[in-house]
Amino acid sequence: MRKNARNLLLQGLAAMLIAGGTFGAVSATGDEANASGKPAVRGASHASTIARTGAWPKLKAGSQGTKVKSVQHLLAARGYAVSADGIYGRKTAAAVGKFQKRAGLKADGVVGAKTWNKLTALTVGLGDRGPAVKAVQVQLGVKADGVFGKNTRAAVRSFQTRAGLKVDGVVGPKAWNALITRPTPAKPKPGTAKPAGSSAALARQLLTKRGITYATKHSETVDPRSTAYRNIHDMAKGIGAATSGNSHVGYKRVPLDPRMLRALITLHDRYGYKLKISEFVGGVHGKNSRHYRGLSFDANFINGIHVGSGAPHKKVMKLCTTLGATEVRGPGDPNHNTHIHCAWK
Ligand SMILES: [Zn+2]
Repeated sequence: MRKNARNLLLQGLAAMLIAGGTFGAVSATGDEANASGKPAVRGASHASTIARTGAWPKLKAGSQGTKVKSVQHLLAARGYAVSADGIYGRKTAAAVGKFQKRAGLKADGVVGAKTWNKLTALTVGLGDRGPAVKAVQVQLGVKADGVFGKNTRAAVRSFQTRAGLKVDGVVGPKAWNALITRPTPAKPKPGTAKPAGSSAALARQLLTKRGITYATKHSETVDPRSTAYRNIHDMAKGIGAATSGNSHVGYKRVPLDPRMLRALITLHDRYGYKLKISEFVGGVHGKNSRHYRGLSFDANFINGIHVGSGAPHKKVMKLCTTLGATEVRGPGDPNHNTHIHCAWK
């Protein structure tokens, strides 16, 4: 008898848990959501990066996550003391009810479109501080310190660009809607970090310089994935430069160092040199070579003249040092009679 009662109790608990799970799901409903009736995110062509529904999610007791956290921050911004734990519990529901009552809405403790519109009826921008700023930061996935500084503004601008909104770095009604209704960005898996954006941008810039050319073959190895030509184009695409399969480090992708790329642009633009790059990260070098870490370039032609045959290699080598290279080799150094080598640390 007692055993049966216990079983019933357990079954009841399980049923409650299942119900709770469904109850807790965030749902975007058609009836109440999107009271304005028009999509809040402009630019249908951006649909691949940002959902363009503009339908506010319905949050209620049992809901969890970033959007709940933002509701809690927005309630705090209105003077309701709720902790921003991302869990829509009884205290959050009660605060929502009070807010709704004061805003002239039906006090049901559920955050739907009308409540979202009232909660987000505030604008935040550079220099602002407080919980509303935290709500923005939480949605952007940046550090939520409640201070709307230059980094937050840059993140807002970047978001507005992707969302097809006016890019002003200020969060008003449209930006709020886009921030809340967009899908949560996937966090990059550790170990798959993309090479720095600046390296990709610099590589693209470098490819516009007609005086800088790139070897399409290696001098002593055969891996075609890692020629200087492929390295710079892969870096421009943002996927990083490939090392040679037969090198000490095997085949892998590494970013090209931005200081090195900037130095090449300077050598071309400011000093007027024409250079042919024979290697970046490809080829076979010393075991601990900086080439394998994207820190070095080799050049075997300067102004169309082969290094070691009268090319002004000493001047370029000196400029490499001026531009921050800490390892500079050329004719006269072992194994460098036909190319110069500039490497950053
Ligand atoms: Zn080298």
